[in-house]
Amino acid sequence: MALQFKNTLSGVKEEFKPLEPGKVRMYTCGPTVYYIAHIGNFRTFVFEDLLRRYLKYKGYEITHVMNITDVDDKTIRDSRKEGISLKEFTDRYTKIFFEDMDTLGLERAEVYPAATEHIDEMVAMIKALLDKGIAYEVDGDYYFKIAAFPEYGKLAKIDMAGMKAGARVAVDEYEKESVSDFALWKAWDEKDGDVYWETELGKGRPGWHIECSAMSTKYLGKHFDIHCGGVDNMFPHHENEIAQSEGANGGKFVNYWLHSEYLLVEGRRMAKSFGNYYTLRDIVAKGYPGRAVRYLLISSHYRQQLNFTFERLDAARSSLERYNDFIKNLEAYPGGKSSGEAEGFIKKVLEGFETNLDDDLNISGALGEIFDFIRDINRLRAEDKLSTTERDKALETIRKFDTVLGFEIKEKALDAEIEALIKKRNEARKNKDYALSDKIRDELLAMGIVLEDTPQGVKWKRKI
Ligand code: AMP
Ligand code: ZN
Repeated sequence: MALQFKNTLSGVKEEFKPLEPGKVRMYTCGPTVYYIAHIGNFRTFVFEDLLRRYLKYKGYEITHVMNITDVDDKTIRDSRKEGISLKEFTDRYTKIFFEDMDTLGLERAEVYPAATEHIDEMVAMIKALLDKGIAYEVDGDYYFKIAAFPEYGKLAKIDMAGMKAGARVAVDEYEKESVSDFALWKAWDEKDGDVYWETELGKGRPGWHIECSAMSTKYLGKHFDIHCGGVDNMFPHHENEIAQSEGANGGKFVNYWLHSEYLLVEGRRMAKSFGNYYTLRDIVAKGYPGRAVRYLLISSHYRQQLNFTFERLDAARSSLERYNDFIKNLEAYPGGKSSGEAEGFIKKVLEGFETNLDDDLNISGALGEIFDFIRDINRLRAEDKLSTTERDKALETIRKFDTVLGFEIKEKALDAEIEALIKKRNEARKNKDYALSDKIRDELLAMGIVLEDTPQGVKWKRKI
């Protein structure tokens, strides 16, 4: 079976065919950096990481762009509340976002464009819309005219009959009931403080939706393969992206739209505004490894809602342990006399893993196959029926899967070993042997240890 995705645009599963053979161009809406992302946000980012890694597993070369929304209604509001510059404010949360990504083992996208660095591209796109009569100005604000884009509503399946032409909405986020002409550019007003750009459109700032249209076009072209986000992004954000991009560029914008479902808490969407959220840091502080959260978030199908509970997190942690123990025990196993069964198990799991993930990323099916494999190989090992070659093949197989799953927790260096290296480095520095001291620093870094020079001497910490 070929790789298939359920495409929100068509509403059905479709075989995935990239525009350019062997290459995938993909855009995923990134965080709005005005707070510490909660694990609900990360459910979407973990799903996108699974998608990205699986496409690589299938041999595709991928260009993945994830934007950083560092100017919008909320970032401006909250930086002003704190009395610091927008940049200082958003830099703080961007840094935290990347740290949390590492804790969850999320791979880096190829490009992370920040909205504030692409104002020219946004202005150019708005001008193209104006030239085509699909946008208009009112007192320095610019709006997208949905009546001039008859296909509006095709993603979120909105019936436009009975729409009141010319109704406008200025805020970035709104519900389907208020579908209206939406803001592309907002003229400066007092509540924006010192956040504005002097452009051909006047003094102001972009609306949220135009950011993604302009940045995706810049880095991926007018027409690309995949666009993702959480279900809440579907309307109005993605609907508006399609309208802007197809309106300005002509032709189709994106071939496959994939939306992940919500993480819930007690049946309700986890959301900052509801106050019912956990950050990754909250959970790590309770002693859970980041990978347990990754396991939990990845392990149910992305199009199904997932209710977060600590019982579920405990179960995820147990599975993660079982997976890691499997690897450790195999590594320590000296090998025995083959019963000839391992080859069949390996073949079965390789097939099962791929068949399931090919089917719109059926992760539960794929994990089921892997845990059957773990059980079968564990039995052979316990009965001493696994040759060294079979052991190595089994390890190679699970590590191949791990390029997609990212569950393996690499052994951490022992504290004593680290202390000894730091001592050696201090001595090297005393002897002015900077080449050696730098070499040791790099060695430590490769072990995941970061050194910090403090007034009390050299301190170290682990990169999680
Ligand atoms: P934001 O930073 O608000 O733009 O959100 C970042 C991403 O998190 C978006 O793709 C949202 O769709 C997604 N998101 C927000 N809340 C949840 C949730 N409870 N479950 C899953 N994804 C979510
Ligand atoms: Zn977006």
